Amino acid sequence: MQALETELAEVCGVINAATGRLVSLIARVLEAESWKTPGVHSPAQWVAWTCGVSPARARSLVLMARRLGELPETRAALEAGEVAEDQVAVVCRHAPASIDAEVAALARSATVVQLRRVLGSYPLREPAPAEKTERQAPRESRGVSFGHTENGTWRLTAELPPEEGALVERALSATRDELFRAGGPNARVDWADALVAMADRSLGGASRRHTDRHLVLLHVGTQPGAGGHLHLGPGLSDGIRRFIGCDARVRPVFEAGGKPISVGRAFRTVPDRTRLVVEDRDRGCRVPGCDRSRWLHVHHIRHWEDGGASDTPNLLALCHRHHRLHHLGRLGISGNADDPDGVVFTDERGQTLVSCGGPRPLAAA
Ligand SMILES: [Zn+2]
Ligand SMILES: [Zn+2]
Repeated sequence: MQALETELAEVCGVINAATGRLVSLIARVLEAESWKTPGVHSPAQWVAWTCGVSPARARSLVLMARRLGELPETRAALEAGEVAEDQVAVVCRHAPASIDAEVAALARSATVVQLRRVLGSYPLREPAPAEKTERQAPRESRGVSFGHTENGTWRLTAELPPEEGALVERALSATRDELFRAGGPNARVDWADALVAMADRSLGGASRRHTDRHLVLLHVGTQPGAGGHLHLGPGLSDGIRRFIGCDARVRPVFEAGGKPISVGRAFRTVPDRTRLVVEDRDRGCRVPGCDRSRWLHVHHIRHWEDGGASDTPNLLALCHRHHRLHHLGRLGISGNADDPDGVVFTDERGQTLVSCGGPRPLAAA
């Protein structure tokens, strides 16, 4: 065991020293400005591309490369393999050059969390001042960024001047209130619902074709289980792909040997006329106890992807939440939707959900 720990410590030292070399090489690239090639808009982008690291780590490496010149003791500790990249990153993010020697000594014995605690009171150095000029426009406190995260969700962050923020907040509040009113006293509505409803409305709301939310590129290839993905989005799990495929505009992409060869005409998995019939028949989410009657999805009981027909017995209206829950495997749905009592809903344990129209006993406090 002792030998194992010694070897581990040795490997860490080698990695640290190699990181020191990497950072000093990046510093030379910054100095020579050799990262400025067509299509590259920042040193961090260049580092991410060249070194195969994440954007966040690339930004951190660039910050270290910029700062280690004025932190010679910390730099020496890294190059000697005595401190690790994450420790140095905290130092570079916070420590002023005047305390370099003390902080280098501290870093040799402190964890990243301890360093953060000690140095947290110094102002943050990210993004470095030079980063601002690279973007050519001064960084003001106003911007919106969004995109897919590593775990496949979608993230939106916004920073706005207070008066504009207040406007967005009012719109969100108004939409949420409206969802509350539409959903009745037991409606559960969160800010995410409000944001999605706002987006829905700005694209034309009810008059807009609901299924235009997703254009699913369906890969039809020679290899089985070719999968699918949202246009320019991440690959999708089977459940989510089925969830989207249930009620979407689909454009098949025909592939051979992994390469797209032609693109077919887009079609709807649920034809508009069938959709009207299903919505009119169900008048809301079919799950017992659910009070949602707007922004409904049409679900294929036998999944469309598995050859389920887009006919009314196989289709039923579900709210977004329940539809998603089903495709995540947490709500069972089976039966004939044309029969008012013909659909059986089961929970995660396989127990049948019953309608809860009547009064229920008070829950034990
Ligand atoms: Zn579905
Ligand atoms: Zn529902």
